[in-house]
Amino acid sequence: MSTKRFDAIEHTLQRPIIDVKLPSNKISDFFAENVFSIDTMRKYLSKDAFIGMMAVIESGKKIDSELADQVASAMKEWAMEKGATSYTHWFQPLTGATAEKHDTFFTPTDSSKGIEKFKGKELVQQEPDGSSFPTGGLRATFEARGYTAWDPSSPAFIVEVGTSAKTLCIPTIFVAYTGEALDFKVPLLKSQQLLQRAAVPVCNYFDEKVQKVVPTLGWEQEYFLVDAALFAARPDLLLTGRTVLGAAPPKGQQLDDHYFGSISERVHAYMLDFETEALKLGITISTRHNEVAPGQYECAPVFSDVNSAVDKNQLVMDIMDRVARRHGLRLLLHEKPFAGVNGSGKHNNWSLATDTGINLLAPGDSPETNLQFLTFFVNTIKAVHTHANLLRAAIASAGNDHRLGANEAPPAIISIFIGSTLTKVLESIAENSSTAGKATKEKLNIVGSIPDLFLDNTDRNRTSPFAFTGNKFEFRAVGSSANCAAAMTALNTIVADQLFSFKKEVDVLIKKGRTTQGALLKVLSSYIKEAKAILFEGDNYTDEWATEAARRGLSNVKDTPRALGFYVTPKAKSLLVGNGIYKEAELAAFYEVLLENYELKIDIESKVMEEMVINQILPVAIEYQSSLANNILTLKDLGYKKKQYKAQTELLESLGKHINAVKAGVDKMVAARKKAHQKKSAKATAIAYGDKVKGCFDEIRTHADALEQLIDDQLWPLPKYRELLFIK
Ligand code: ADP
Ligand code: MG
Repeated sequence: MSTKRFDAIEHTLQRPIIDVKLPSNKISDFFAENVFSIDTMRKYLSKDAFIGMMAVIESGKKIDSELADQVASAMKEWAMEKGATSYTHWFQPLTGATAEKHDTFFTPTDSSKGIEKFKGKELVQQEPDGSSFPTGGLRATFEARGYTAWDPSSPAFIVEVGTSAKTLCIPTIFVAYTGEALDFKVPLLKSQQLLQRAAVPVCNYFDEKVQKVVPTLGWEQEYFLVDAALFAARPDLLLTGRTVLGAAPPKGQQLDDHYFGSISERVHAYMLDFETEALKLGITISTRHNEVAPGQYECAPVFSDVNSAVDKNQLVMDIMDRVARRHGLRLLLHEKPFAGVNGSGKHNNWSLATDTGINLLAPGDSPETNLQFLTFFVNTIKAVHTHANLLRAAIASAGNDHRLGANEAPPAIISIFIGSTLTKVLESIAENSSTAGKATKEKLNIVGSIPDLFLDNTDRNRTSPFAFTGNKFEFRAVGSSANCAAAMTALNTIVADQLFSFKKEVDVLIKKGRTTQGALLKVLSSYIKEAKAILFEGDNYTDEWATEAARRGLSNVKDTPRALGFYVTPKAKSLLVGNGIYKEAELAAFYEVLLENYELKIDIESKVMEEMVINQILPVAIEYQSSLANNILTLKDLGYKKKQYKAQTELLESLGKHINAVKAGVDKMVAARKKAHQKKSAKATAIAYGDKVKGCFDEIRTHADALEQLIDDQLWPLPKYRELLFIK
C-alpha cells in the first residue's frame, strides 16, 4: 500500500500560510537597497573615482587598476555594512541558469588573525573552472580554462538567502581562456552596441541631436506553482521540471475559471514575498495575475534597456525559485509542465529608445515623427522577413518544442501581426512606390494619415509569434525558462544589419538628388513589398495558416535540433560573424552546446520515464493484477459463474494489455537511446534523440496513463494531476 502520495497530500493541506511582512509600507524606503546603484556609488566613492566610474558606465571606457581597487574597496565597505560576508562573480553560462562561486572577504593574516579584503583584481577578473561549464567544440581545441570579467554596465547587487547569508554579486561575462565567449551576455552586449551604431545615423535623418539608441526589453514571465510535498513525490517534476506521465483530470482549464481569477492566499503571500525581494534589487514587478491554466501565474516588470532587463529576468527567476521553497511551494519554469494544460511562455516586448527620450516604435502625431516611426517599424519587419529562421533558432529548446505549434502558443512559423490600421498605411505606401520620393508632399500625406488615436486603436492577436502592440513589438514565442538574451541578441542583430543596408540605400538616392524624405519613402516602399510574406493578421493556430505559410515560402520547423541548424547556415554565419557578434569558433561552440543541451534534456526525461514505469508503475500494476487474479480464482473456487466475475476479468485483461505495452514501449525507448548514442556528430545525436527517443514518449505515456486510470487509487504512488493543479 502506497502512502507516499497521501502523505504528500496531507502535508499540503496542513501547510500554514506564511505571513509576509514588508520591510516598510513605503516601497521607496527599501527600493533598490540591495543594489550598488549610481546613488550608492556617489556616496561610497571619492569624487574622482565616481567620475571615473561614470565614464566607464556611460561610454564603455576601460577601467584601470587604480580605479578598480577604489571601486572594489567601496563595494566591500557597502556590502559589509549591509551584512554580506562574501562575494561572487555572477554570470550566465550556456547552461541557461546563472552561475556563482562564492569567496569570502576574510583573508587570514596569521593563524589567529585576519582582515576583510576585496581587491580590484578580484573584482575585475576571476577564474572559475571553465571545463565545468558547456564549451561546445572549444573544449577540444582550446584549454578548458575560462574566466569571468566584470561588466561595469550592469550594477553589482546583494543577494539574501534566508535572513543571515548575504552575498555581494558582481555581474560578469564568461569567456574562454583564449577569449571566446562562453555565455549569453557577450553576444548580447555586442548586439546592443551594433544596434546603437546602426540606429543612430538613421535617427539623425530626423534629429541631429540623437547620440544614443538602446533597445528596450519588458518581459512577461509565466510560471506554475506546485506544492513542495507533491513535487517531491514526483521524480519527473523533481528531475525534469515537467510531468512526463499523468492522466488528464476530468477538470482542467475548460471552465476558464483561473485566468485573472482571484489569487489564493498562499500564492498571494508568495508573490508579495518575491516581489519584495525583487524591489530591494531595484526590480519593480508591475503586474501579477493568474494565467489561463490552473496553477499558472504571470508577472511582469517595468521595462528597461535589454542588458539590464536580461539580468533582471535571470535574477527574478532565481528569486522566485528560492522564495517559493520558503512557502512550501516549488516553481515550475518549464514550458510545458502538464500535458493537456496550457504551457508557459515569456513574451519579450522590444522597442528602441533614444537618448532624447523618444520611443522609436511609437507613432508620433506629426508627419515627420510618423515617418521616423515608419522607418524603424518597416525596417524591423524587413529584418524579421529576411532572418525569420534565425529568430526561430533563437527560441528553440526542448521545452519550447512542446508549445510551438501546439495550439496554445504561436506556431513554429515566424510571422508578424501589425493590425488593420498599419496594414492599410503600409499598403498605401507600397502602392504609391513608383512615385515615391518624387511627389514628396503627397507621400507625407499618406504617412500623416495614421490616425492620432492609433496607439489605443491597435488590435490584438494572441496567436501571433511577433505582434506589434502599439508602441513595441512583442516576441511571444520565447520559452518561459529561456534566457531572453538569445532572442534579444538575434533581434538586435538582424535589425542592426537591416538598418545598415537601409542607410546605404537611402544615401545613394539622396546623392542622386532625392530629398531625404523622398529617399526614405522610396526605400521603405520597396521593403514593404519585399517583406509582405511575413505579415499575417489571421489565426496562427489554424491548419490553413500552415498551408498558406508554406505557399509563401515561410519555414515551419517544429523541432529544436533542426531549428538550431539555422544558426549555422551561410546566411546566419555571414550575419552573426560578419557583424562581429560571434567569432566563427564561438558560433560553432554555441551551436554545439545547444544541441548537447537538447540531447541531455531528452536523455534525462527518457531515463526518468523508464524509472517511473519500471520502479513505480509496474510494481503497483502487478500488485493490482495479482489481487484481481486472486479474486477471480477465489470466486471460481466458490463456484461463481464466469459472468458473475466478468468485470474483474475485463479489468484484468486491460491491465495485462497495458502492462505489456508500457514495458514494450520502454524497451523500445532504451534501444533507441543506445542507437542515438552511437551517432557520430552532435547534430545527428540530437536528431536521433528528438525523432527516435522522444518518439517513444507518447506511446509509453498512453499506456502508463491508462494504467493510472485503471488501478486502485489507493495504490497509485504518484500525485495525480488533480492534486498537483488544484490543491493550493
Ligand atoms: P500591454 O501592451 O500588454 O497592454 P503594457 O503596455 O504595460 O501592456 O506592456 C506590457 C509589457 O511590455 C510590460 O512588461 C512592459 O514593461 C513592456 N513594455 C512597455 N513599453 C515597452 C517598451 N517601450 N519597450 C519594451 N518593453 C515595453
Ligand atoms: Mg504579452
